[in-house]
Amino acid sequence: MAEQSAPRAEVVVDLDAIRHNVRLLAARAAGSATMAVVKADAYGHGAIPVAKAAIEAGATWLGSCSLAEALALRDAGLDVPILSWLDLPGADLAPGVAHGIDLAASSTRELHAIADAGHRAGSTPRVHLKIDTGLSRNGCPPHEWPALVEAAAKSDVDVVAVWSHLACADEPGHKSVDVQADRFDHAYRVAREAGLTPQRHLANSAATLTRPDLHFDLVRVGIAMYGLNPVPQEEDLKPAMTFRSSVALAKRIAAGESVSYGQTWTAERDTTLALVPAGYADGVPRLLSGRMDVWLAGKRRPVRGRVCMDQLVVDCGDDDVSEKDTVILFGDGANGGPTAREWADTIGTIDYEIVTGMYRPRVARTYVGTRG
Ligand SMILES: *Cc1c(COP(=O)(O)O)cnc(C)c1O
Repeated sequence: MAEQSAPRAEVVVDLDAIRHNVRLLAARAAGSATMAVVKADAYGHGAIPVAKAAIEAGATWLGSCSLAEALALRDAGLDVPILSWLDLPGADLAPGVAHGIDLAASSTRELHAIADAGHRAGSTPRVHLKIDTGLSRNGCPPHEWPALVEAAAKSDVDVVAVWSHLACADEPGHKSVDVQADRFDHAYRVAREAGLTPQRHLANSAATLTRPDLHFDLVRVGIAMYGLNPVPQEEDLKPAMTFRSSVALAKRIAAGESVSYGQTWTAERDTTLALVPAGYADGVPRLLSGRMDVWLAGKRRPVRGRVCMDQLVVDCGDDDVSEKDTVILFGDGANGGPTAREWADTIGTIDYEIVTGMYRPRVARTYVGTRG
């Protein structure tokens, strides 16, 4: 019988780490509810298992980018409030209303589409009116806000909340945060004057960690729940994602031999190479060629030459490495191992993009810390 072999490349998601992080964030936001943001398949970690773990740890809301993502959560039996914030004009919102998904409106056009969906679904839609306080992405521009709140007050919708999103909360002390908070406060007062009694929510992970004055009724945490720290202060967060593979082939090469396409690296001495069957098709950025280490056989070891589509090559010197040894490409950084943050810093991006980019058909995804 064939021996069970490890996947070529595998993302392992630690649900205990997710629970730990959610408990920490919910405690920091004590007095406010916590929304677990699970858009983009939970930043590449898997929306449904992550949402379940987050709820077990104290989250009472879920956030998703699209109605399709939100309905998938409902279909999985998750019955907490779910906010969905961005669909195309013309999208059929009636299934969202029918399944009790909260919808966001940034314009009277969106508000009317939601009210219309409510009529077709035969129930009252729950709406969160979004004010643009300075991000200039979605959200209602201030000059259209009075008309939006007045239309909402007259529509067959339940206005659950007024909300907005911060541009620079990950730079604590950035002056835009207070400017946005002031504009948010003003927009809330305009909504109250129109007769609405909405909740308020503004904080992302960074503001949850650094601005308790902006927690309001609900905080929306994403990146920190996955254990990646968006702010330059120490936090006891545990990265939930480990990306690993294993040694497919180990061999000696002689001094003077070069490695991988372009022969960009040449061995100065005889050395042992470990071939790892993971490359840019599996989420290892080619920009990391010659600029990354992996954790293998008890220590960090450099990747030599170019990262290929399906393979990369690790220099193990004179150490013993065995075929099938586990290779950690990134993980929680314990013992000084590589992290998603380190990859992001090396290639000039953010760890959000690294982990979210790990959702790939060729990469297996497994869970540890599951319950029941
Ligand atoms: C993604 C997102 C969040 C979560 O942001 P993090 O920085 O990951 O905490 C919160 N609110 C909205 C509207 C978002 O799009």
